[in-house]
Amino acid sequence: MNAPRAPLMPLDEALARLLANISPMAGTESVATFDADGRVLGTDIVSALQVPAFDNSAMDGYAVRSADAQTPGMVLKVTQRIAAGHMGQALQAGEAARIFTGAPVPPGADAVVMQEEAEVLPPQPDGLTEVRLSSAARAGQWVRQSGEDVQRGATVLAAGTRLGPAELGLAASLGLAHVAVAKRPRVALFSTGDELVMPGDVLPDALPPGAIYNSNRFFLKALLHRMGCEVSDLGIVPDQREATVAALKTAADHHDLILTSGGVSVGEEDHVKPAVQALGQLDLWQISMKPGKPLAYGQVRRSSRPGLAHFVGLPGNPVSSYITFLLMVRPLLLKLQGASCLAVPATPLAAHFDWPKGDKRREFLRVQRNAQGGLDLFPNQSSGVLTSVVWGDGVVDNPAGKTIAHGDVVQFLPFAEWLS
Ligand code: AMP
Ligand code: MG
Repeated sequence: MNAPRAPLMPLDEALARLLANISPMAGTESVATFDADGRVLGTDIVSALQVPAFDNSAMDGYAVRSADAQTPGMVLKVTQRIAAGHMGQALQAGEAARIFTGAPVPPGADAVVMQEEAEVLPPQPDGLTEVRLSSAARAGQWVRQSGEDVQRGATVLAAGTRLGPAELGLAASLGLAHVAVAKRPRVALFSTGDELVMPGDVLPDALPPGAIYNSNRFFLKALLHRMGCEVSDLGIVPDQREATVAALKTAADHHDLILTSGGVSVGEEDHVKPAVQALGQLDLWQISMKPGKPLAYGQVRRSSRPGLAHFVGLPGNPVSSYITFLLMVRPLLLKLQGASCLAVPATPLAAHFDWPKGDKRREFLRVQRNAQGGLDLFPNQSSGVLTSVVWGDGVVDNPAGKTIAHGDVVQFLPFAEWLS
């Protein structure tokens, strides 16, 4: 008779236990702002200047003193021309300055009239140009005030912010050619399983019976790169105790995390679990999640220096591996980098499908947003079906035991946010 099964661990508890073991890596490195996309900021960025640094025109038109331009039809003398990157002279009463977008508003002027509202009059005998303004000017109109974007001394980006294109642009607008970011986590990746064959080694026609291509290695490597990691791809470690111990030992010395897929199901004979146990410690969790469930977390001692490498063993089924990475490994990697935001927020959306039989585990159903703003369900939710992840643009986070009826509001987690 089988021993009674231990209750499954709630996913939130497993995640909390996992993250409790993770401290941010010490130290930061300086990288060129150009190359910092996806990195996590190691220190606050405090602005050393006002942005914009000076009052400037938001339009092509005429800089004026608003006091001179209170009546539509008012005529002003154009006494100067100011292009972006050039300084003008102080504006006197009755004068206007021809001005272009981004050019400094001259002293004395406090408004810009867009050129569409200014009629250039025929030149005067003295060669001066005049403009007639078709509308009154309000003080401040079409003037971008110094500091309206960023005030000097303001904390513009906080340590722990993950830098994306907009953040890089903002850092550059403060004059920063380099930023201090968390080091890249170094991750050793390997797969287990005698059935695995590498694409390119054997043509599809010649696949031996029982063999499958190693797909996890490809998406895990890509996912790790997205998370800012340096990846050592150790391939498939030979299915022998000595070789596995040796591989883990070397990996621990040079990496922050060792990530494997396969071989963590209960009762499975494989060499990774005992090898990790021999070099450190290992917990095997049965998590209330579907796809997913088995997950190994452990630590491998370093032989060459103090400290340890984290070990995560993902389930082998490709969809389980993929989803477990997003839910568990992604936050781990973000925490290692000191990121302040580890989770992806769910969006409530209407299910345009029925799910009449809730599972006893919390489910992550692959769905696609449809043109009506609702969610369609991929027909095959099996944990081996990678087409469900490609077709889907996210998952519904469905609590254990919950059924879904067409029209119910469900919690949608978009892949795009996880992968960004
Ligand atoms: P396991 O977790 O090792 O029991 O594997 C569960 C299922 O996932 C089995 O059908 C394996 O063949 C499959 N599997 C394991 N590793 C991989 C991999 N790297 N790529 C594709 N399928 C895999
Ligand atoms: Mg296996």
